[in-house]
Amino acid sequence: MLYRADEKTGQELSILGYGCMRFPRKASGGVDMELTEQLIARAVELGVNYFDTAYIYPGSEEALGSILEKRGLRDRVLVTSKLPHARVKKPEDATKLFETSLARLRTDHIDYYLIHNLVSFKQWQRLLDMGITEWISAQKAAGRIRRLGFSFHGTLQEFEKIIDSYDWDFCQIQYNYMNEHYQAGVEGLHMAAERGMPVIIMEPLLGGRLANALPRSAVELLKEADAAASPASWGLRWLWNQPEVTVVLSGMNSMEQLQDNCTVASEACAGCLDEAGQELIERVRGEVSRSYKVPCTGCAYCMPCPKGINIPATFAAYNESYGFSWFTGAYHYYVSAGLSSGAELHLPSECVGCGHCVKCCPQGIDVPARLVEVRRRLQPPGFKPAARAVNAIMRRL
Ligand code: SF4
Ligand code: SF4
Repeated sequence: MLYRADEKTGQELSILGYGCMRFPRKASGGVDMELTEQLIARAVELGVNYFDTAYIYPGSEEALGSILEKRGLRDRVLVTSKLPHARVKKPEDATKLFETSLARLRTDHIDYYLIHNLVSFKQWQRLLDMGITEWISAQKAAGRIRRLGFSFHGTLQEFEKIIDSYDWDFCQIQYNYMNEHYQAGVEGLHMAAERGMPVIIMEPLLGGRLANALPRSAVELLKEADAAASPASWGLRWLWNQPEVTVVLSGMNSMEQLQDNCTVASEACAGCLDEAGQELIERVRGEVSRSYKVPCTGCAYCMPCPKGINIPATFAAYNESYGFSWFTGAYHYYVSAGLSSGAELHLPSECVGCGHCVKCCPQGIDVPARLVEVRRRLQPPGFKPAARAVNAIMRRL
């Protein structure tokens, strides 16, 4: 296992982190504790020392906490968890949620604690107004939170505002070779690294789709280059090739996957992907993009939209609905519109055709017209009032 240092503390972090969102499940729906225990124990043996869970991942904190305790591994690993900020109306709520995480994880401290899923500066501002920084300082002084960061799914502009508004210890972003300019993207990665923040990568394989659902032509290209290397290993190599990446999270559900990921993590150093490897990824990217409907590169030059529409994320979701599956695209469409975070809802159907985006788009995309197509495919009639009602409920949770 290779390690990269948290520059702020000198702590060595395994470049492969264990994503605990989707532990293997039994047919009954509960976490398969036997297999999960074997996986976690083997991961630690192979050098993984970073485990990422969250308050809202069903059964995850409990499973991780009980396995680490049973195997006596708590002191050998770094445990992260996340605060569901929409549920925090006053600092005492944060205490309650945090205490629950500690109890489930059977620990007295969380090594890397994140504000979960910020998509806009406004959400963070709400917490600042509430006095959350005093709460954080108190937890840190008591040694209960060791490092404080945030996970992020908004635009680059919002990311920049958030990282400049607080002395964060680290951050977590979505990043992979198909999402180089999506959300915080490569610019956000560099921004955070320049500030000395470790950057944790989520969705390194686009929810497994860069491992198991690439177009056949893309898989053939990868196999021609190296018949023994899995598509997943190429996605991971591309990430670790970048020195700004600190930890890449992978949700590993089988021994085979764990072994494959760990093998790559034992040799994939920064700068190790040669020119031929980078060209190969570029060609694979081209094959995946060809299966897309809208030639949006996610550059975000069209942003911000005065109606708050996340244009690149909307097109990314639409393309995924063709390139991968309708459900994948629909899920990301709703997330990018603000549904699921309790943030204000900005649906593409709110486009007023002002034309700002069209003038800025280097790809010459007729954004308003294409948004109509997106809406037809991903936003069924009657969706808008239902979504607003769901969002209102989420805000009250
Ligand atoms: S045309 Fe529509 S999508 Fe484009 S900036 Fe104006 S409101 Fe936003
Ligand atoms: S400017 Fe064009 S290519 Fe860039 S994100 Fe906007 S729509 Fe996509």
